Amino acid sequence: MYDKYSKKAEEFISHEEVLSTLKYADDNKDNIELINSFLDKARPVRSNNEVHCSGLTHKEASVILASNDESVWERVFNLAKEIKDAFYGNRIVIFAPLYLSNYCVNGCVYCPYHAKNKHIPRKKLTQEEVKAEVIALQDMGHKRLAIEAGEDPVHNPIEYILECIKTIYSIKHKNGEIRRVNVNIAATTVENYRKLKEAGIGTYILFQETYHKESYEKLHPTGPKHDYAYHTEAMDRAMEGGIDDVGLGVLFGLERYRYEFAALLMHAEHLEAACGVGPHTISVPRIKRADDIDPNVFDNGIDDETFARIVALTRIAVPYTGIIISTRESQAVREKVLPLGVSQISGASRTSVGGYAEKERPVDTEQFNVSDQRTLDEVVQWLMNMGYIPSFCTACYGVGRTGDRFMDICKTGQIQNCCTPNALITLKEFLEDYASPKTKELGERIIKEKITEVKNKNFNNIISEVEHGKRGIRF
Ligand code: SF4
Ligand code: SF4
Repeated sequence: MYDKYSKKAEEFISHEEVLSTLKYADDNKDNIELINSFLDKARPVRSNNEVHCSGLTHKEASVILASNDESVWERVFNLAKEIKDAFYGNRIVIFAPLYLSNYCVNGCVYCPYHAKNKHIPRKKLTQEEVKAEVIALQDMGHKRLAIEAGEDPVHNPIEYILECIKTIYSIKHKNGEIRRVNVNIAATTVENYRKLKEAGIGTYILFQETYHKESYEKLHPTGPKHDYAYHTEAMDRAMEGGIDDVGLGVLFGLERYRYEFAALLMHAEHLEAACGVGPHTISVPRIKRADDIDPNVFDNGIDDETFARIVALTRIAVPYTGIIISTRESQAVREKVLPLGVSQISGASRTSVGGYAEKERPVDTEQFNVSDQRTLDEVVQWLMNMGYIPSFCTACYGVGRTGDRFMDICKTGQIQNCCTPNALITLKEFLEDYASPKTKELGERIIKEKITEVKNKNFNNIISEVEHGKRGIRF
């Protein structure tokens, strides 16, 4: 039976509820009056310098996703832009993944690190190698990382992950530092989540891959990840272990996208109902080519237009949750979806173990082929040319603005009063320390223009302090 308060995976992601949602969506997909009433309800409401959004339920959003009416989609895209603007403004936060180890005991059929792949070189970074990777990332200008590792209790036990986090935070090369380490490792115990929290991680990210239990079990034929309930209930355990920022995601292409979308929103509703705080981020990866993986063998791939619709509807359904797009997507696709609600992107990523310290991009241990291969300087310049403020901000984590404390500020639209100045401060740091002359020139112009939007009277002085070498100022 469907119960969003339940702690059991099969109850908060009830298969019957998803099927009945999809039926309700099919029955109502041409009911423009109903769809318009959902979109009206989801519009931002402004009062007393605050802005609120009601979002959409999984049922409402599923009806809209089933629509093929062009006028509906025009409305959806415009509303997504309006909501993105109201809560996130035009800043885009940049991060990079850091692959620690590709040893893995699982059998995920869509990932080249699966245990049966005997020809892919297996690699696990030593602490010296972690250091070299972090220096290379800092020298590009990165401040925020997402660490990735396969599941392997012998090669990658929690102690190894904790040691790597400690190493990452300890390195200060020139003016560089990593200020936030997000963690993307396999589902684990409450005790291990507690250890990660104590190690000072930002968000714990775990992709569900697919919410469809039967498909999930087929796609994960061997290894501990085969256990659907243990995997799906991971975020509840993470919250129990004190991690209040968690990141959801499905791998689009494995199952029918409408099923995944409804279930993803049900997962978000469950976390809000049962844990008191919804997901901090949602990632929307699509399956890509890799070592022994051919994306064409999965017959649920989605085209770019459907992908854009999913991003826009996610923005409207969960207005307070960040949306992440990685370098799995090309520059062109990223340009298409950025205005529809994306708040974070990865840049200059290398998805191989030890990839950043190498001069040339190594591909032998890549988890997936990177579509967008530009340098960080190019990504920063590109964002500014499109009117965005590239941000390396990690302030919320630094000042303890996480979980419900973050949501309280975000839900009134007040977070923008922090995001915009922090974006400008961290952009200024980037311009001073890492940018090419052309990027610096463009960035200085943007800072000059945007500085007037910051209410703090002292802000000019703060920017000038950054120019004179001060680092780490934050709101
Ligand atoms: S997706 Fe993760 S768990 Fe599965 S094979 Fe790849 S690294 Fe291992
Ligand atoms: S102020 Fe908080 S929400 Fe805004 S960009 Fe920085 S870390 Fe993110």
